[in-house]
Amino acid sequence: MEKFKNTMQVFKLLPKTNCRKCNKPTCLAFAAAVFQGQISLGDCPFIDEDTLNTYGGENVKYESRAEQGYLEVMGRLKEKIRQTDLASRAGLLGGTFSNGRLTIKIMGKDFSVDTNGEISTDIHVNHWIAPPVLKYILSGKGLALTETWVPFRELETSKDWARFFEHQCVKLFKKIADSNPSFFEDLIELFNGQPVENHYDADIALIIKPLPLLPILICYNNPEDGLESDLNLFFDTTADKNLPVENIYTLTTGLAKMFEKLAATHG
Ligand code: SF4
Repeated sequence: MEKFKNTMQVFKLLPKTNCRKCNKPTCLAFAAAVFQGQISLGDCPFIDEDTLNTYGGENVKYESRAEQGYLEVMGRLKEKIRQTDLASRAGLLGGTFSNGRLTIKIMGKDFSVDTNGEISTDIHVNHWIAPPVLKYILSGKGLALTETWVPFRELETSKDWARFFEHQCVKLFKKIADSNPSFFEDLIELFNGQPVENHYDADIALIIKPLPLLPILICYNNPEDGLESDLNLFFDTTADKNLPVENIYTLTTGLAKMFEKLAATHG
């Protein structure tokens, strides 16, 4: 386990977005507090597991705090769901409403929420997936898709998240695609992925729909002539109106983690 030699060494590991999710005003303030032992590196939710393992010992602490934070967030979101007319939201969001439940499709699978905010679904709901889906139900604008694709960094409100999205999310998708030859077949067979043609000259291009109004276009190029493989994710230009950009980041990362877990389980 490595020990930090100074504040800057901690700072270099941070996304430097000053997003304040750690309750510190800046990443630098956070780094100083970690170096002084007042808080742990795991209090920044964007530190990956490898880094936590390297600087160690805080995983358990982090996980219990993350669990507590998750329950608090879900409690607040469920409370808002109880005050929301789900029947009227359903039509706007590409879902249906019957028997007191709003149901939307997440990659072809039903995801239902009742008027108390209780969730029932066949997909594996990790902590990165449920809150953004509830946010979509509560605050999605329900704009019709333009079918014009842009990378995450070109979404109007993505500025503070773009670099981190590339690092945490796109990289993880690429790693899964590179190491798991059946990844794209699995997306098609298990998660209703729709192959498409003529997109950015990609060897493989397919669309998944994590939410009815939030499709993601995945373009992958195989390694060739000594060049590395290449993977890019694209969003409809309406994406950050139909789901706040922070939640797009969280949801897409949640999917990547779910795919990674599946790939590990199924070899
Ligand atoms: S949560 Fe992480 S990225 Fe956000 S301000 Fe704190 S240290 Fe920086």
